[in-house]
Amino acid sequence: MSDTTAPTTPAGAATPKVGFVSLGCPKALTDSELILTQLSAEGYATSKSYAGADLVIVNTCGFIDDAVKESLDAIGDALAENGKVIVTGCLGAREGEGGGNLVRQMHPSVLAVTGPHATHEVMEAVHQHLPKPHDPFTDLVPPQGIKLTPRHYAYLKISEGCNHRCTFCIIPSMRGDLVSRPIGDVLTEARKLFEAGVKELLVVSQDTSAYGVDVKYRTGFWDGKPVKTRLFDLVRTLGEIAKPFGAWVRLHYVYPYPHVDEIVPLMAEGLVLPYLDVPLQHSHPDVLKRMKRPASGEKNLERIARWRELCPQIVVRSTFIAGFPGETEAEFEHLLDFVREARIDRAGCFAYSPVDGAVANTLADPVPDALREERRARFMAVAEQVSAEKLRTRVGANMQVLVDSAPGLGKKGGVGRSYADAPEIDGVVRLLPPEKISKTLKVGEFTRARIVDTDGHDLVALPV
Ligand code: SF4
Repeated sequence: MSDTTAPTTPAGAATPKVGFVSLGCPKALTDSELILTQLSAEGYATSKSYAGADLVIVNTCGFIDDAVKESLDAIGDALAENGKVIVTGCLGAREGEGGGNLVRQMHPSVLAVTGPHATHEVMEAVHQHLPKPHDPFTDLVPPQGIKLTPRHYAYLKISEGCNHRCTFCIIPSMRGDLVSRPIGDVLTEARKLFEAGVKELLVVSQDTSAYGVDVKYRTGFWDGKPVKTRLFDLVRTLGEIAKPFGAWVRLHYVYPYPHVDEIVPLMAEGLVLPYLDVPLQHSHPDVLKRMKRPASGEKNLERIARWRELCPQIVVRSTFIAGFPGETEAEFEHLLDFVREARIDRAGCFAYSPVDGAVANTLADPVPDALREERRARFMAVAEQVSAEKLRTRVGANMQVLVDSAPGLGKKGGVGRSYADAPEIDGVVRLLPPEKISKTLKVGEFTRARIVDTDGHDLVALPV
């Protein structure tokens, strides 16, 4: 399969549900965890019954005859009960009589068959048969879809749900209040991902800063040691786990609560990437109040200034909404000033669009569609100017770049990202062909590169 663009379901559509049957040894279990993590990071829900699922994934075992029979029976059950089945795991790689694929011979109506360690292919099959959900206000990926996560980076979901009630958002009504995953489970999953070759771990949730609030920051255990279920402990330990693998840890969806200041010195030390994805949505206190957002614009400005003092190389990414109901021209101008003053490195902006069931739909003075779009465009012009100025200051610097694509071992160049670029949502580093004949570029490996130019949102660099 070569299509790497996932279709999305429209905002407001029911969350697609996937049933999962996991058979086999601990290695197969790790594969199941990787697939489930990816499903969850992309917003799919899981279903405990065949009937409640939109499709079913069966992770099989092909080791001994009993296991083969158990796996084939499980596929048969899933087909009978649900009808839409994707098969992965060891049995998927087995040949049947005459050299064809055994699973396809026994169950010709399955949607797709892959072998083990095939998160990428399984997700591709899921996207093809069950479009991924999309929420323009909370997705980490652009509305046109997501490229499948290659093996060298992975999303790590640390919690589900949210305790806030932002008026434009229906996530809490769909997914409920914040439920933090046990810290031991999160850290174990992180180490497995690094062991499997992941070079960049992207921490995601609806509200990363609130991690552990629901369990009163209770003490859990990992590697025989007590560790608290709270952001600082999580980030520090993730950084320590990543170090021997030389891997990056990147934080998404960090709200600017005061305790986030504790994380920034860990970034200055190099334990985790000096990159914060902070979804601010607006700057004007009255708009933030109508949105029911947790912090005021003025404090956010101070907070960002403090982060830059503690860690001058920090990159701040954020998303904003233009044309929220009742937004006046003065309030919008406040937002433009904020982006200029806070020097937001990477900014995305949505024109407000009502989500079915959101409280904000009932607010007074909705902004006309055309004006929302116009403001979004004005916002992006300012944000791009700030971003371009900041990018230009990098020309001449040597940066570490994680290679995402390098056809022919990079002899004709490639594409990568620096610490300042999260996959899919930020710019990239366009790598020129290396001058040294012996130098090669490999996907999933780091290279040093000298920044020689900028190109829109991107940097141009020469591998050294
Ligand atoms: S913080 Fe607000 S926008 Fe984010 S999930 Fe919670 S309610 Fe929705």
